Amino acid sequence: METEVSLELQRLSQQLQQSWKIVRTPRMKAILKIQDIACDAMRSYLRSEGFIELLPPIIGPVTDPGIRGAKQVTFDYYGREYKVMSSAILYKQAAMSGLGKIFFMSPNVRLEPIDSAFTGRHLVEFVQLDLEIAEATYFDAMSVAERLLCEAVNTVRDTCQSELEYLNRNLPRLTPPFKKLTYDETLEYLRVNGVKMRYGIEIPWDAEQLLSKLVGEPFFIIDYPRGARGFYDREDEKRPGILRDFDLIYPEGYGECASGAEREHRYEKVLARMKETGEDPRKYSWYLEMLREGIPPSAGFGIGIERLTRYLCGLEYVWEARLCPKLAGIHSP
Ligand code: AMP
Ligand code: MG
Repeated sequence: METEVSLELQRLSQQLQQSWKIVRTPRMKAILKIQDIACDAMRSYLRSEGFIELLPPIIGPVTDPGIRGAKQVTFDYYGREYKVMSSAILYKQAAMSGLGKIFFMSPNVRLEPIDSAFTGRHLVEFVQLDLEIAEATYFDAMSVAERLLCEAVNTVRDTCQSELEYLNRNLPRLTPPFKKLTYDETLEYLRVNGVKMRYGIEIPWDAEQLLSKLVGEPFFIIDYPRGARGFYDREDEKRPGILRDFDLIYPEGYGECASGAEREHRYEKVLARMKETGEDPRKYSWYLEMLREGIPPSAGFGIGIERLTRYLCGLEYVWEARLCPKLAGIHSP
């Protein structure tokens, strides 16, 4: 098994050594054109809804700890340990507290486990369109997420016919609203389809892929149990143990598109949740100080640009959606 993995890594590694050259192919040109059009459509949509785009911070003393088995990148910053952003969640809340509706095109780095190199869905370096809305519920955030995805898909359909044809991609038109399944309903749906899963954990990649194939259209999974997510997803006061959060799932087996939530922003609650999830509050001093002073309640989500491109273009591998992609365990340009 180990030799199989290392042979597969070697093969991928050889392929990616010349990734700087792949950009010259008509295929890559079509993919990157579609990506550009999709980003432009999403930016225009968000601006028309009153969002402001900010330049994303990419280093800081702490970053998002909720990254599912991936490791953070740490480096020496003038005698202190700093992190490269695994997501800009903490900074989104700071920005939202001043500006209301904001988004970043945020570069993220996560040292994903080696076996992620073969999922077709994981990069070590990727970009999220990461947004946050003051005074919003997670239903408000889902409504923005579904309209954002529809804008990207429908604009690409309307303006990139020749590129889609070149890629042999038949991209269906989307219309909101999307279906919502609770976490409990999702587990039951999986059970009926022969997949047993322990309650309380994130949905594993293979089960998520199966769901994404079976449901047949984009849909939300909502209301994850506490313990499956980071300390910043807000618990429902009326349903203890249930978080007011969601994932948006692509159809056709492409898996997760976006994750989002209503935020826990109350100092005491966050402190308790940090302790519960094994985070050292001392590391989060600036963030906790901000919460102690008080910020508005909010909700938001992050959507991965390369995964979106993969779906739009119908690609087998997410690494085809990036110039010089970085994959776990591979030393490429
Ligand atoms: P997360 O905070 O893990 O939910 O990530 C937010 C979004 O970023 C996901 O829904 C994906 O679209 C994207 N994403 C997360 N991790 C990766 C990765 N390793 N490679 C590519 N895209 C990712
Ligand atoms: Mg997620």
